[in-house]
Amino acid sequence: MKRIVAVLSFFLMSIAFAQQTDYVDFKSANALLGFIPDSSMVFGKVWYKFEILQPTDSVYLDAVNMDVENVEIRVRNENPKPIDFNINNDKIYFKYSFEESETYTVYFDYDAYPKKALYFLKRNNDWQIWTQGQGKYTSNWFPSIDDVNDKIVFNLSLVDCEANNFLSNGVQSLSIPLPDNCVKYQYNMQHPMSSYLLAVAIGKYNKKTETSKSGIPLEYYYYPEDSLKVEPTYRYSKQMFDFLEEEIGFAYPWQNYKQVPVHDFLYAGMENTSCTIFSDAFVVDSIGFNDRNYINVNAHELAHQWFGNLITATSGEHHWLQEGFATYYALLAERDIFDDNHFYFKLLNSAIDLGKQDIAGSGTSLLNPKSSSLTFYQRGAWVLHALRSKVGGEVFKQAVKNYLEMHQFDNVETSDFISEVERLYGKSLSGFVNQWIKQKDFPVDAAFDLLKNQSTYINEYLMVDCQTKSSKCAEYLKYYISDEAKVKIISQAPELVTSGTFEHGLKVRQAISKYVTQIPKELKEDYETLLDDKSYITIENALYNLWTNFPEERAKYLSKTRNIHGFSDKNVRLLWLVLNLNTPFYQADNKQGLYEELVSYTDEKYNADLRINAFQYLDLIKSCNDKCLSNLEQAKSHHNWRLVKFAKQMSEQLQQNKN
Ligand SMILES: [Zn+2]
Repeated sequence: MKRIVAVLSFFLMSIAFAQQTDYVDFKSANALLGFIPDSSMVFGKVWYKFEILQPTDSVYLDAVNMDVENVEIRVRNENPKPIDFNINNDKIYFKYSFEESETYTVYFDYDAYPKKALYFLKRNNDWQIWTQGQGKYTSNWFPSIDDVNDKIVFNLSLVDCEANNFLSNGVQSLSIPLPDNCVKYQYNMQHPMSSYLLAVAIGKYNKKTETSKSGIPLEYYYYPEDSLKVEPTYRYSKQMFDFLEEEIGFAYPWQNYKQVPVHDFLYAGMENTSCTIFSDAFVVDSIGFNDRNYINVNAHELAHQWFGNLITATSGEHHWLQEGFATYYALLAERDIFDDNHFYFKLLNSAIDLGKQDIAGSGTSLLNPKSSSLTFYQRGAWVLHALRSKVGGEVFKQAVKNYLEMHQFDNVETSDFISEVERLYGKSLSGFVNQWIKQKDFPVDAAFDLLKNQSTYINEYLMVDCQTKSSKCAEYLKYYISDEAKVKIISQAPELVTSGTFEHGLKVRQAISKYVTQIPKELKEDYETLLDDKSYITIENALYNLWTNFPEERAKYLSKTRNIHGFSDKNVRLLWLVLNLNTPFYQADNKQGLYEELVSYTDEKYNADLRINAFQYLDLIKSCNDKCLSNLEQAKSHHNWRLVKFAKQMSEQLQQNKN
């Protein structure tokens, strides 16, 4: 009995250690896809080309809940012939006596009804279809390889009959008109990538194109009605692209760069190779730009085109080679647009957050695959800032360039990067690696010391502190210290705000709207000017505080803000509706219409953030009617987990209140 167990476990171990990448190398995937939105279905004809490295009798693709048929194989120039296959454990196994050094192509048809990674949704009565591979697995909608270590050239095609745009990785090489207003589109890639970076986005878009200094087409997609938002949304895109190419020292590795906003995206953005998909909450007008712009996400996803896509971490242990680098290079791009102070201020804030994480006991080594996003992103970025400060900019830049050249279109581990820095630096970095990368705690003191040495601005910011009622605090607000330092003082001692404080910039005025909630009479007139600021956050705060502090003036404030909607979640409009409903003498004959407008924003055609806001307000005023309740019920099965979580909680709460 014991022996059988021993033999069995040995057998299992040998299976576990034999990676498919040891005996087969997938080269390219071509596919003609079709989508049926009404039944959330995808289907396609696929052909995969691969080379056999060691003889084997089966190779597999990951394919979750897929129907597969008409499987054929082509060997050399022979005609394709049917082969055996089976589907087991969400994999398709192709059975054949595969010979070493031989190249094969398998052909098959498939269809699937994916539960994740591919999303069908309605926006303005048009279908929008898009994918999210990372964290969700592309194999839910396209037969592919979950293992990031086998890189493949993907070439997707689609027949569209609905006048949609079809976006995917690579360059659109072909569009062939077909009968019935249909068109066949084909995309081609030049270089291989991991399967999680495969993307499709289908919908109604217009596009604006610029060209980088190096000649790469930069395509900015937008909804047809958003032409006025193109400039603020994509502001600095070309500058950041040119900057990163120059800074990284390795030419952008793909044929073009497309960015496409989608409705109710799961994250801020996703760096699919040459085709970044991002949340349309970042599509902003010139006022929204001041509060909630796309710059950081834009730069982050762009940096991934090198760090993540050109070179990919072999496993979760080295995930920071993607997120830490993307975060750091986005910071550098922002430093180029704004200034050094912006750069150091962001580093300071992330050091504070990392320190707090350790105090809370949830800090981890950067090499722990279960680390938080804060660790992977911000600690990763900090490692690069500290490393560059230690070895000097020249060594750092050259090492990054060499590292990319050596490992391009391949996979990497932390030692691949560090060893190249060590080689050029001429000294061991093991002490640095232990302190910054391996040890559990983030070296918060070393980080603060570094910042204090590098930035007088940070010194000033840290020195200014009014938590312990310094006598200088009132003066700080009058004299020249940075806006960030003034914001800090206002947050600590809002009572120090005077009429003069209103003369400062947008951020300082926003802090007033946030922290000065009891408005002294003598500041009323100054405070009212906040309603004219080019910030939807300031306007929302100021409207609420003015309405609360000065009841006799409510009609005036409502009238002044009646045409402002705010961000895509209509933050100002929803507040305005609720305040209006609670102002009996203002627009008394239109209350029903306004209430119905508020309820309408809970409908599935609106984005998740707007719906959550509307549900929250209706809950607050205890007026979630039947329509609201049925939309709440329906929201529980949405693809956005935040909306689902919210809807379930609110629903439970309503139930409890009833009982
Ligand atoms: Zn990222």
